[in-house]
Amino acid sequence: MRTLITGGAGFVGSHLCERFLAEGHDVVCLDNFITGNPVNVQHLQGNPHFMLLRHNISNHVEVEGPIDNILHFASPASPVDYLRHPIATLKVGSLGTHNSLGLAKAKNARFLLASTSEVYGDPERHPQPESYWGNVNPIGIRGVYDEAKRFAEAMTMAYHRSHGINTHIVRIFNTYGPRMRLDDGRVVPNLMGQALRGEPLTVYGDGSQTRSFCFVSDLVDGIYRLLHADFHEPVNLGNPNEVSILDFAKEILALSNTKVDIKYEPLPQDDPKVRRPDITRARTLLGWEPKVDRHEGMRRTMEYFRGAIKK
Ligand code: UDP
Repeated sequence: MRTLITGGAGFVGSHLCERFLAEGHDVVCLDNFITGNPVNVQHLQGNPHFMLLRHNISNHVEVEGPIDNILHFASPASPVDYLRHPIATLKVGSLGTHNSLGLAKAKNARFLLASTSEVYGDPERHPQPESYWGNVNPIGIRGVYDEAKRFAEAMTMAYHRSHGINTHIVRIFNTYGPRMRLDDGRVVPNLMGQALRGEPLTVYGDGSQTRSFCFVSDLVDGIYRLLHADFHEPVNLGNPNEVSILDFAKEILALSNTKVDIKYEPLPQDDPKVRRPDITRARTLLGWEPKVDRHEGMRRTMEYFRGAIKK
C-alpha cells in the first residue's frame, strides 16, 4: 500500500503519516509548509518507507508510481491562520481538492477529504448530526475556510458520483494534541502557552461559547477506519464531551498549577456559540468512539508545549 497525505507535515497530517507507516504503508507526505513544518516529520526522514515532497497542492501535481490512498489534509485550519492566508485557504479547499481528486482518478486510488465542523457554521441545531446543512456566513471572515470546505465536499461527492471514485469525507471537530503550533491562535495552544509563560489567559467574549475537544490519537484512529469503510457520505469525528471556553480555561489553570488571571477579549466575528458532534454515525458505521478523556489528553498536550517553549 502506498498512501499520499497532503498537508502531511501539519499537526494532524504528521500523526497520520506515523499511523500509516505503523500499518506497513509507504507514505508520501506532501506539504508546502505554509502552516505545516518539516520538523513535525523530521523523525520519519530516515525511514525508507517515507518520502517528503515540497509542493503546493493548489497547483497541478504529478507523482511517480502507484498510489493506493490519498488523504487531502492540506489547509490552514485555525481561524487565525485562515485570516492570515484567506486566498491560499480558498485555493487549497477548491483547487487543491480538485487536484487531489484528479490524482486519485489517475491512480485509481481511494480518497479521503478532511472536512470540518465549520461546514455547520454557527449551528442552529445542537448537537450537530451529518444531516444538518449548516448556518454559514459566506462573506464573513471565516467564510474562506467554511465555503472552501463545503465546496470540497461537493467536489468529492461529484467525483464519486460521476467517476466512481471511492471517496470518504470526515468532518473533523476541534482536535488537539502534540505538534499543534504554539502560535496557531487556537484556544488550546493559546491558553496552554499563556499558562506556561505565566501570562493571563485570553478568553474571548464571556467564555460561555462551547467546544468539544478530541485528542488527536482518537481522531487518527477514526480516520483510519473511515478510509476502509464502504461509505461515501460525511462522517463526524470528534469528542462529544462539551465544555464552555471559560470552564476550559479554568481546567488549564488547575492543570498548570499557575495563579494567573483570566483576561476577557472581544469575541471574533461569527464565532460559533456552540459545537458538539453527534457521533451516532461513526459509532454505528465504524465502531468508533473517543478513548482519551480531556484531562489525560490535556496533560499530554501540556507536556508537549512545555518542551516546545523551552526550545
Ligand atoms: N478562544 C478564546 N481565547 C483564545 C483563543 C480562542 O477564548 O485565546 C475561543 C474562540 O473565540 C472560540 C473557541 O475559543 O470560541 C475555540 O477557538 P479556536 O480558535 O480554537 O477554534 P474554533 O473552534 O473557533 O474553530
